[in-house]
Amino acid sequence: MINIVLFGKPGAGKGTQAEFLKEKYKLTHISTGDVFRFNLKNDTELGKQVRVYMDAGDLVPDELTTKMLIDEVNKHTDTNGVLFDGYPRTISQAVALDAFLSSIGSKVTATVALEADDEILIKRLLERGKTSGRIDDQDEDKIRNRYDEYNEKTAPLMQYYNDQGKFHAVNGIGSVQEITERLSAVIDNL
Ligand code: AMP
Repeated sequence: MINIVLFGKPGAGKGTQAEFLKEKYKLTHISTGDVFRFNLKNDTELGKQVRVYMDAGDLVPDELTTKMLIDEVNKHTDTNGVLFDGYPRTISQAVALDAFLSSIGSKVTATVALEADDEILIKRLLERGKTSGRIDDQDEDKIRNRYDEYNEKTAPLMQYYNDQGKFHAVNGIGSVQEITERLSAVIDNL
């Protein structure tokens, strides 16, 4: 399996790029944010449990998130690999992902971060909030809280994967196609 973790702050373009990469490399795309939003929309038990965190722009607790992620991966065992979009977001999640993948005889192949300046991304997210219907995209304080969560809890993961020689970064500013090319150049060299 080729398992790729896509990093990037909210609004960096992970979802957009994942759509291209999953086709190109025949990967299963798992976006934890999308799965949570599906559960919110359908008012499932999981949706009820995560709403308060998501609406505030806080991370959902690790245990809940990891359980959901493992259930998702287990639904797609017949795959070339997984494109993880929005998971892991904490060291504890990264450790859980390593343990889970190892239990199925696999591992994280590489991680790639889409890098972009916060102020550009915040403007982009506020624009997206006008049409996405996402409560967490509509309020600048909530957006800034998501960035604080990223800087405090997710940014340390870059070092975690860098120490394993599995971290790559690409410039996330440019056209969608240019950024897909930069990401593909990294993946093709793995
Ligand atoms: P996203 O669509 O990736 O920006 O995620 C939207 C929201 O879902 C986040 O602000 C969190 O509340 C929640 N979420 C998604 N992925 C995770 C994760 N790996 N750990 C904790 N919370 C998450």
